[in-house]
Amino acid sequence: MVALNEEKKKDYIRVGESTYFSGLFVDENRILQKNNPNLRAIDMKPFCSCCTHTFNGKIFGTE
Ligand SMILES: [Zn+2]
Repeated sequence: MVALNEEKKKDYIRVGESTYFSGLFVDENRILQKNNPNLRAIDMKPFCSCCTHTFNGKIFGTE
């Protein structure tokens, strides 16, 4: 879940079929940070209509 270098940073990572979590990295102060802190479930669109997609435990399209 944690990127070890800048190149591998991703906004989100896929864990299961339709389960996503924030991509994380450790900054120069060794603080765990989200690669894209602005990305929220409400902004994300499911790729199909047959599954319930979640981001950090929240259903896509919800606050
Ligand atoms: Zn589906």
